[in-house]
Order: sequence, then structure tokens, then C-alpha cells
Amino acid sequence: MDAVLELEHVTRTYGHGPHAVHALRDLDARLYAHSLTAVMGPSGSGKSTFLQCAAGLDSPTSGSVRLAGREISTMGERKLTRLRRERIGFVFQSFNLLPTLTAQENVLLPLRLGGRRRSAPNTDRARRMLARVGLAGREDARPGELSGGQQQRVAIARALITEPDVVFADEPTGALDQDTAAGVLRLLREAVSAYGATVVVVTHAPAVAALADRVLRLADGRLAHDTAGAGAGAGVRA
Ligand code: ADP
Repeated sequence: MDAVLELEHVTRTYGHGPHAVHALRDLDARLYAHSLTAVMGPSGSGKSTFLQCAAGLDSPTSGSVRLAGREISTMGERKLTRLRRERIGFVFQSFNLLPTLTAQENVLLPLRLGGRRRSAPNTDRARRMLARVGLAGREDARPGELSGGQQQRVAIARALITEPDVVFADEPTGALDQDTAAGVLRLLREAVSAYGATVVVVTHAPAVAALADRVLRLADGRLAHDTAGAGAGAGVRA
């Protein structure tokens, strides 16, 4: 099976000497295409640092991070910016939509930032993507006119529109009530099962484990457990 993301001997240390904090300690992990991986662990275990290093938002102190076969841990900032824009999707706890743009314009944003003009095919694609996430008919709504769950659906559509190698979701349900959160998680599951996306969810929410193909549990900057989740999608690896 193809590893989309490979971390080898990844160490991330903040600070120096006696005050150094070892956020990741010699961590190895491989994530496979078309699967939903949950990254869990107590507060301070290194989840955010894992996400930042894996998504090219931060560089490890040592070790290797390969995304779709390309080494990103040593990549320059310009190349990284382009890679993040074109090959990685992001979903955040706080949605991070632009309030002055409509739902459809928010979804189109990654394509426009990538230099692609507003074109009829792209607009159609954005509409289809919004329909897939259950927002047909709400294309012209601005984020302030949508519920939290709907805003997160727009954010998921935006993350998927470039067909990225990996979508990273950082506590995507942290700002939502339980029922709304369950709907958003099902949508991420569906993105994997129906559309072949590769999704990594960093979360405290135990409900994610039930939908994930795989659960990576961090403890003190190390991979404490790597287990199959209860998710039913393709890409399950015990
Ligand atoms: P989690 O996301 O699981 O809560 P983090 O990756 O945020 O864990 O943090 C792991 C460890 O690294 C913690 O001890 C945290 O205090 C420390 N840490 C995270 N970011 C920084 C930073 N910018 N400077 C110093 N220490 C940090």
C-alpha cells in the first residue's frame, strides 16, 4: 500500500539546554492513501507539533518527513507555501473562513490563490463540492449566515477542492455540539470512503476513533499505540 506521508526519526525540540522541551522524540509513522487516521493523546503529548511537522508548517529539529514521496522537512519556504496550497488541505477548529466571501467564493479560494482564474468549470466544481457536503442552495450565503456545522462543511469543501494528497483537520469538531460534530465526522469519513481522500484528524474526541481506519496515540512525544480503528473504509491497515 502506498504511504502518502512518511515520518522517520522525527524529533522536534523547542528551546535549548536544560530548558529544552522535547515535543516529538524520534517518531516514526506512515500514513496510507485513502484512509482516515486519528491522532490522539493527552494535552501536551505532541499532537499539534506532529500536525505542524507533517503538514510542512514547521520543520523538525531532525528526521525526515516525506509527502507523496517528496522530502519536505528541508524544503524552502516558497516551495513549502506552494506545496501546502496545492497538495494539502486544512480544516481548523475555528473554520477560518473569510467572512466577506460567500460559501462558494470561500471554496474557490484555494484555486484562485493557486493562480487559476474564476472560470465556469471551477465555479461548477465549487457548487458540486458544496452539494456533496450538504450545502446545495447555500452557495451565496456568507459565513455569518451559516451555523457552525455548516461553516465547517464549507471549510471541508474548501479543503477538498484541490484534491490534495492529504487533508489535515485540527480538532475539527472542537467548536461544535455533539450532534453537529457527529455530522462533520461522518462527512470526513465519507470523503475517504466515497471520494478517496486521505484525512488525518488531530483530536481529543473519542468519537473519531470509531470512524477512523487507524488511531495513532501519542504520549510524551512518542507513538504509544498504533491500532486499527473501527472505521469501515478502504485503506484499513491493522
Ligand atoms: P498537544 O497538541 O498534544 O497538546 P503540543 O504539540 O502542542 O501537544 O505540545 C507538545 C509539547 O511541546 C508540550 O510540552 C508543549 O508545551 C511544547 N510546545 C509546543 N509548542 C511550543 C513552543 N512553540 N515553544 C515551546 N514549547 C512548545
